[in-house]
Amino acid sequence: MAEVSFKKDVEALKLGEGQVFHGEGIMAVTKALLQSGVSYVGGYQGAPVSHLLDVLVDAEDMMSDLGVHLETCTNEASAAAMLGASINYPLRGAVTWKSIVGTNVAADALSNLSSPGVVGGAMIIIGEDYGEGASVIQERSYAYAMKSSMWLLDPRPDLPTIVRMVEKGFELSEASHAPVMLELRVRACHVTGEFAAKSNRASAKSGLNRIDGPPRFDYARLAHPPLTFLQEKLKVDQRMPAAQAFAREHKLNEFFDGDIKDLGIIVLGGLTNTVLRALARLGLADAFGNARIPIYCLNLAYPLIPEEMKQFCVGKRDVLIVEEGYPDYVEQAVNTELRRADIQTRVHGKGALPKAGEYTGEIMLRGIANFLAATKPAGIDAAEIVAKADALLGHKGAAVKAVGELPPRPPNFCTGCPERPVFAAIKLTQKELGPTHVSADIGCHAFATFAPFSMGNSILGYGMSLASAAAVAPNLKARPISVMGDGGFWHNGLITGVASSLFNKNDGVLIVMQNGYTSATGLQYMPSSKASRQGQAPGMDIESTLRSFGVKWLRKVRTYNVSTMMITLKEAMKTTEPGLKVIVADGECQLARQRRVRVEDATKLKAGERVVRTKFGVDDEICTGDHSCIRLSGCPSLTVKPSPDPLRTDPVASVIESCVGCGLCGEVAHAAVLCPSFYRAEVIQNASPWDRFLHRVRRAVISVLAPKQVAA
Ligand code: SF4
Ligand code: SF4
Repeated sequence: MAEVSFKKDVEALKLGEGQVFHGEGIMAVTKALLQSGVSYVGGYQGAPVSHLLDVLVDAEDMMSDLGVHLETCTNEASAAAMLGASINYPLRGAVTWKSIVGTNVAADALSNLSSPGVVGGAMIIIGEDYGEGASVIQERSYAYAMKSSMWLLDPRPDLPTIVRMVEKGFELSEASHAPVMLELRVRACHVTGEFAAKSNRASAKSGLNRIDGPPRFDYARLAHPPLTFLQEKLKVDQRMPAAQAFAREHKLNEFFDGDIKDLGIIVLGGLTNTVLRALARLGLADAFGNARIPIYCLNLAYPLIPEEMKQFCVGKRDVLIVEEGYPDYVEQAVNTELRRADIQTRVHGKGALPKAGEYTGEIMLRGIANFLAATKPAGIDAAEIVAKADALLGHKGAAVKAVGELPPRPPNFCTGCPERPVFAAIKLTQKELGPTHVSADIGCHAFATFAPFSMGNSILGYGMSLASAAAVAPNLKARPISVMGDGGFWHNGLITGVASSLFNKNDGVLIVMQNGYTSATGLQYMPSSKASRQGQAPGMDIESTLRSFGVKWLRKVRTYNVSTMMITLKEAMKTTEPGLKVIVADGECQLARQRRVRVEDATKLKAGERVVRTKFGVDDEICTGDHSCIRLSGCPSLTVKPSPDPLRTDPVASVIESCVGCGLCGEVAHAAVLCPSFYRAEVIQNASPWDRFLHRVRRAVISVLAPKQVAA
């Protein structure tokens, strides 16, 4: 079992009425779902919400006691479609994925869910991966909420608020008959705190108490014309006013008072802590979040509630809208509502704050200082505030001046990753055949876009590599190579890429990295994994699936075998056989393997059994210091150290302790005909009598053959 265990987190999900929950925001959401009486949950993993699904998988026994159905979906579209259960039935359900990418994939189902609306509360927990650490394109989910008339909760990162928004979110969905998105930024997922738990609640209708039969046929429950025209009207005429009324009545948004009455800040809930921290650093708030400038916190980011917003702005000379990214939807809406009501409050937003990009602590500090400099409120010295911001932000420039810009440190494949050798093989093949268009994809293999491989001409989305090469192949002299992970293959690569390529009789080369898990999202099982959350393998495999689709040219190669991979690649590139050529690059995710092997080895060592670990090393007397091995590998365990030879100044290659002995170093040295400086060693613990005997023989032979030390 390679999946990480969350048994400890599961214990926190069992807390009852009045007990205190301590932990992270994402776990608080998980607990709040169970307190809300959900009948079903599902989703597709992705940062920063993978943990939600991982924990629910480990909590499956407890969930079945509550009658909650759990579905680990094959992509976000299937997760969104699951919410269809809430269209006809009084069933509460929640699904989760990473946004914006997952919301893009789910868009069709979301539109068709929002149109007829729901009777049971339907919630989508989206990990809003917007910001500097994001691994996806920078777009926001706000636009989806607006276009589909789904309500968007963006809770203030504070555990009681997050839990309340989950619970109220279901009520909001039911009161307005619309799905609700609950947006969690990375910081909201990982904020820690506590809240008073409630007992978990079994739904009145669930797997434990099933509904009698389907409902009476009701055409209005279908997203199908001509009803869709009526449904569009319902969204704006009935559902949105119902949502706004519910939000007002239940005080989903929060007002925080302050003594600088002529100013105000309207902030999206998720950004509130960053605003409060910036105000505190500028001396305008205390450490407990009591600010001098009044704040209107939008835990419900969409729709806006005009009455509340106008009530906040009346009597204020200037307000600052804090809304990350572009377009400035909230700023436009606030401006429109104020003008309609003839309220003359000036609106600041983009300008004081940047149009695009994450509002980090530094950016927020500067933005608020800019706002104060422009508005010069009574009672504070704006110039002093700006000077304070300059002083707080000045250290970075001074550090750059002193030591220069630090080099970027992009992420990399893990030590011993099975995907690294494939790119070494592509690199070596390209040396012979010339450069090739490489159509890259989402997954760990995207690390090959960084040095030392710097490989990949386009990335169009998860599982999209082959499809994105469709118009490249007929226009280029050399066949393009598309690289896709097994996760991407099942997510949609099989249909969008393989089926489309075969259907159109396209030519091209596809490498499917078969590492056995959706590794980049935290090692979840997928259809071709060797195990599943239920134990046994799901019984779907990539090779037979490809053959059943009609792929004729298909090879399976162990990834670490660089020479064979090169031969196979060359054959795929040069063969006159038409159609799609697929290489299944097979090698278990090293991270998963190490997690498994480490436990197995520890058990063996405890029992006094023999354990062998393979290590690679570089003979520093032979290494010439040209570092071609590093340029062909990029393994973090392969580094440099000073040369022991005083006549050679170039540092030599060195393999450090973290080497897991994957064998790539030896393979690359062999395939690229590098120097013979690499050696392979076996570290044996609890050695057997035979091992000890062999060791003595070897030492004796070496001492005879080795040059004798001559006394000076
Ligand atoms: S998680 Fe697995 S597949 Fe991903 S880089 Fe690490 S070893 Fe490679
Ligand atoms: S053998 Fe080489 S590539 Fe493999 S883990 Fe060790 S140093 Fe890294």
